[in-house]
Formats: sequence, C-alpha cells, structure tokens
Amino acid sequence: MINRERLVNNFMNMVAVDSVSKQEGAFRDLLKREFGRWGFQLSEDGAGEILQGESGNLLVKVPGTLAGNTILLVTHMDTVVPGHNIKAVRGPDEIIRSEGQTILGADDKAGIAAILEAIEVIMENRLPHPPLELLFTVSEEQGLLGAKNFDFAKLQARIGYVLDSGGAPGTIVTQSPCQNEIEYLVKGRAAHAGINPEDGLNAIQVMAKALAKMPCGRIDEETTCNFGVIEGGLARNIVAASCRVKGEARSLKRSKLEQLTGQLAEIFSTEVTQNGCKAEVEISLLYPETTLSPDEDVVKLAQRAADRIGLTTRLISTGGGSDASVVNGHNIRCANLGIGMNAVHSTEEYIRVEDLVNDARWVLSIIEEAVQI
Ligand SMILES: [Zn+2]
Repeated sequence: MINRERLVNNFMNMVAVDSVSKQEGAFRDLLKREFGRWGFQLSEDGAGEILQGESGNLLVKVPGTLAGNTILLVTHMDTVVPGHNIKAVRGPDEIIRSEGQTILGADDKAGIAAILEAIEVIMENRLPHPPLELLFTVSEEQGLLGAKNFDFAKLQARIGYVLDSGGAPGTIVTQSPCQNEIEYLVKGRAAHAGINPEDGLNAIQVMAKALAKMPCGRIDEETTCNFGVIEGGLARNIVAASCRVKGEARSLKRSKLEQLTGQLAEIFSTEVTQNGCKAEVEISLLYPETTLSPDEDVVKLAQRAADRIGLTTRLISTGGGSDASVVNGHNIRCANLGIGMNAVHSTEEYIRVEDLVNDARWVLSIIEEAVQI
C-alpha cells in the first residue's frame, strides 16, 4: 500500500526546503499545505515568539474513525547546519545522500515523510484508525527547545512515538539519560598585568586548576560528563577577573546524576575558594531519564507492529536526549524509534530508500495495531 515513489519524492521535496533551527517557517508552510488537504485541525503555538524563531510547534489532530487510544507521533522540523540549499541525490544503489556540501536532513525529515505517507495511505484507502496527534517541533537541535515550550495539556494521547533515532527501522529506544546543564563561574580580581599583577586574582588560572581536579568524560557505563565551552577575561594585559565554563552531566540513573553533579560542584567550589576566588555553580535539569519496560503498551505496540511487517525489533539504550525525553516528562509514555538515518549531523548523512519505506510501513502498522489496545 505504501507508494514508494510518492514517499521518495515527498522526502526529496522536504529536504529541499531549508529549515535550519529558528528558520522553520517555509517548512512549516509546506506541512500546513500537506496536512491541510484533508481538513485536519492544524494549530501552531507561540514557541516561535518565545524562541525568536520563524515558527512555533505545529500540532495536527487527525480525528479517529474508531474510538481507541489516541496515538501521538512526534518529529522535529529543524535541522543542523550546513542545511541551506540541500539537494538530495538518489543513487543507483537506492541510497539518498546530499550532493556533499550540506547535510541531507533525513534527521528528521525521514520521519516526517514516513508519517505523511502513512496518512496518505490511510486516507486514500479509508483505513479505520484511532485519533492521531502529529506534533512537529522546532529547535529540537538546539536542546529540545520547541518541545520544552510546548503545552502538553493540548494532547489527549497517553502513548507516543518520536521518530528520531538512528538504527534500522525496528529499533526501539527504551532507555535514555537524564541531563543536567552545569555552569561554573570563577570570580577573581582584575589588575594590571604588568604593573601590579600581585593585586589581582586570575580567574582563568584558578578555573584551570579546578577543572584539572574534576572528573570529565565517561564515568561509568551509564554516566558521562563534559566541559563544552570556556570563556573569560577581557584583554591580554588585564588579570582575568572572571571565567565561565559551560558543562553537562548525564546518566541513565537519576541518583548517579545527582551524585556526580554534587561531586563536580564540590571539587570546583573547594578548589576555587582555596585559591581565594569566589565560586558559583548553576545547575538545571534539562530533561528527565526515561526507562520503558518491555512489557508496557508503548513498547509492545511498536514491537507487534514491527513483527507484523517482518521488521526485526531491537530494544536499545542511548546516551542522547530527544524530544521523547521531554514527552515522557509530561506523563505520556513515549519511545524514540530508529528510522534508518545514518551519519547524521554531517555532510555524509544518508538514508536507504528501503529504510524510508520501512519507516512508513512501521508507522502505518503502529496505527493499525493501535486499534487493538
Ligand atoms: Zn533529530
């Protein structure tokens, strides 16, 4: 029932419409046109104004022809850079790549094209289906910002799928980490570097001493932390009065995240204070951990749907966050699904046509199987 050529064409057209984070306006218009054809209720929220982007999150509500549990499908409209003027090329090997100067944008337009194709099939064949909620988020690539600013009270669904993971179709992410954003600030004292350096307290040097004592990288199988950005000082000839580091910590277990975050803050503060400077640490939880059990509905439904169409299922754990992390934080059981995108966030990004087709088949199968739960 999946129309392979229509699906590939829609995908190639979608990646040709630029939608780098904050510049999703033209792509939102494309989705409004496509899903507007059937008269579904479309609504865009105010996330665009909040994030100073061109578009808010777009919610499409597809009324069910059967009573039954509403299913939520989530994808993100935005892409990373280089994402302007993408030209997709379908090779004789049935692999779709960019021309080489840009990303492809299968992340996440493969998921979006799959959802559109599944809806096309449902509408043209008048297939019975439960109510569907299609959420297209913005600025996912900038830290799940669209999803974080979405009002989940608008949704009826208690089960959802994010189509935004690597791995072949059939892959179900059942475990993902919680993450803290951590900012470390050292406040020292400025002085002239040549005339009276002894009156200063060099925040950059004290930051370096503290960082050298703090753990970084992989802590254990479930836990990691990183220092990602450093900034500080005003000029070469001024003793640096302040220095700031932006870092993070993640773990599949909340207790480990809290323990590591506490340890980082303590080592930092102790070292900075001992060197006569002032330490500040700001911690914010970016998203909660997700653990889905293999026998809950959201996992079983995706598995049953995959089995029915001959896809091999694989339950995996990931070290990355996704919109699923945010959705799960709002009382909707939500799994991130593998859609066969490869080498994402690089100019080597590609997807096999076969995987694109299986994505659409899987989405359709989930919708059809959902009638039974
Ligand atoms: Zn993505």
